[in-house]
Amino acid sequence: MPDAARPPRHVLILGGTTEARRLAATLAPEPAGAPEHAPAPECALRVTTSLAGRVAAPRLPAGEVRIGGFGGPEGLARWLREHAVDALIDATHPFADTISHNAALAAATAHVPLLAVRRPGWVPGPGDTWHQVTSLDEAAAALPALGTRVFLTTGRMGLAHFAHLTDLWFLVRSVDAPEPPHPPRMEVLLDRGPFTVEGERALLRAHRIDVLVTKDSGAAATAAKLTAAREAGAPVVVVRRPPVPDGVPVAEGPGEAAEWVRGLFSAAHSH
Ligand code: NAP
Repeated sequence: MPDAARPPRHVLILGGTTEARRLAATLAPEPAGAPEHAPAPECALRVTTSLAGRVAAPRLPAGEVRIGGFGGPEGLARWLREHAVDALIDATHPFADTISHNAALAAATAHVPLLAVRRPGWVPGPGDTWHQVTSLDEAAAALPALGTRVFLTTGRMGLAHFAHLTDLWFLVRSVDAPEPPHPPRMEVLLDRGPFTVEGERALLRAHRIDVLVTKDSGAAATAAKLTAAREAGAPVVVVRRPPVPDGVPVAEGPGEAAEWVRGLFSAAHSH
């Protein structure tokens, strides 16, 4: 039975990803998520998802939502204390490096348990021609030797890294419209996943794309472009992920993260 005297345990999810939305749907009291991952009944939960506020019309998760930066690791630590957060889950995009480091620092300062959720990265298969790089600058440096018509899917925030490539033509796909600086010869396609192989195939053909640039986000929703590039014989420049901060445990998906929450609170409850 729930303990009437104790407020519900408060879980803060750092979101902006499909995994974060799924986790919120699983943990938040309403609407009920996948029952097999639901926390034990004695663990009443309050679930808040934090969004950075980058996307104009974000898909909102279940539970409570707050939007905007915290003001660095100190601001996040303060938020954790002031809102009596019992567990912090960093379910941000694998490339959202700053917030992940802030989360590690803030959790240590505020003595709040932290878990990172990171979907597995993509792996090249037979027929793939991948050029793995560690930054957008390296990706830009690799491009002139690989093609002239680029499908750039690394997001609107990093376009400045490609702005000097005046001889190449870019198809840029992003959720919101990019702002300068950006490559001079480009067409923008405003869209967000999931994408299908048929759709990606048609896009590559229609724009005569001969090289693709992507981050290794590992998401199923955006993996179709890799299949389409393989079929077209187009090389892919894959930007590798930054590492998860030292000492932070990692779950591969929302189900595993929900188990971690359940374990955390049932252990605490039995003491
Ligand atoms: P970032 O570089 O790691 O973070 C920059 C700053 O944005 C952080 O210092 C923090 O500001 C704020 N911030 C980031 N995520 C936040 C969150 N969930 N809630 C509140 N504040 C947040 O992050 P980013 O790469 O710009 O990504 C921003 C958001 O977009 C993330 O939530 C991420 O999951 C999502 N996203 C990112 C990518 C990508 O490729 N990077 C792709 C898809 C979705 P303060 O220091 O003021 O707290």
